[in-house]
Amino acid sequence: MERVISVSLGEIVLKGLNRKYFEDRLIKNMKRVLRDFGEYRIYKEQGKIYIEGLDAHQDDAIRRLRKVFGLVYISPCIRTSREMEDIRKAGLTLVKDKLHGDKITTFKVETSRSDKRYPLKSPEISRDVGSYVLRNTENLKVDVHNPDFMLYVDIKEYGYVYIDRTKAYGGLPIGTNGKGLLLLSGGIDSPVAGFMMAKRGVEVDAVHFHSYPFTSQRAEEKVLDLAKIVSMYTGPMKIYSINLLSIQKEINKNCPEDEMTILSRRFMMRIAEEISRKKGHQVLITGENLGQVASQTIYSVDVINRSVQMPILRPLIGMDKVDIIEISKDIETYETSIKPFEDCCSVFLPKHPVTRPKLEDIEESEEALDIESLVKEAIDGMKVVSIE
Ligand code: ATP
Ligand code: MG
Repeated sequence: MERVISVSLGEIVLKGLNRKYFEDRLIKNMKRVLRDFGEYRIYKEQGKIYIEGLDAHQDDAIRRLRKVFGLVYISPCIRTSREMEDIRKAGLTLVKDKLHGDKITTFKVETSRSDKRYPLKSPEISRDVGSYVLRNTENLKVDVHNPDFMLYVDIKEYGYVYIDRTKAYGGLPIGTNGKGLLLLSGGIDSPVAGFMMAKRGVEVDAVHFHSYPFTSQRAEEKVLDLAKIVSMYTGPMKIYSINLLSIQKEINKNCPEDEMTILSRRFMMRIAEEISRKKGHQVLITGENLGQVASQTIYSVDVINRSVQMPILRPLIGMDKVDIIEISKDIETYETSIKPFEDCCSVFLPKHPVTRPKLEDIEESEEALDIESLVKEAIDGMKVVSIE
């Protein structure tokens, strides 16, 4: 009998002929989070992936695997032979680990038998294991409708017995859906947006705009802290850091005050698009959310889109703020996001920003600016940080 970790795959199993491509990528991503755990072995058996040899790091490994997209459930299992005697004993061991105190608890055994030649049928195996466990414990009852916990038995080339299942995020393995450049501010929304696109298999890098020295060094560090948390899910990430101050000053000097936000947002997009061209991203990603602020009306979204050719993905566009906050708490970016450091957008913030910008007006205002050289100058001053 051996302790192993099993992981079950979500949507990947629907991938038909492409399934191997997705599975291979998933295994590569799993190995990346497990790389400092020494010797272990990963193998596939009928729809699940198993890892053996991680006994000493089991809890840690499960915590890390939970952040690997493409996984749905992760379970510590006992792997046994296919002999009923072994399967019963493994069940009893796990149940005894699970029981504490003298309160009556209820359980149910559920068996899945992928080898139909196995001499016992699934319900017979469940009954057998269940009654063995009952005979050898106290304070335990079977409840098939509403049990306190489940004891699972999978019969494959081996037997696998387990109780606990940690729910992972599902989604698709990172690297199976191209590369995106996330516009990462210090706020609540953009880290969540990066997480959500990564969950759909997109490899994510980030660009951040600051207005140093109007915004502080500490505000910069906050964004790097956020990027580090996001990279626990997305994997290695590059952060491109751009000083927007001279562009903001130019806008402030030459354009109507109420267009400041929308004009600087269009510059952010142009700069992000230029970086993407050089670094090979296919899409831009933002944390914009319809109606949240002036620059996020449907009219602003339209005018912002027209500053670039590249698609801008906005995974939060139709969500409610409370739901975004819930995700940010779950992925642990929230506490960092709410730290009070100034954002570049708070520099030259208009009192009454336009909420219904017209493309013609905005383009007319931009005629006063040398867009190309401002973009080039900003990118020439770009700094890059790599997070491993
Ligand atoms: P967030 O919580 O992500 O800051 P927000 O609700 O504050 O979003 P805005 O400030 O209007 O909304 O920003 C909308 C989006 O524009 C952000 O989600 C982000 O993708 C991008 N953005 C805004 N400011 C910056 C910045 N300083 N650097 C990079 N991207 C930014
Ligand atoms: Mg913001």
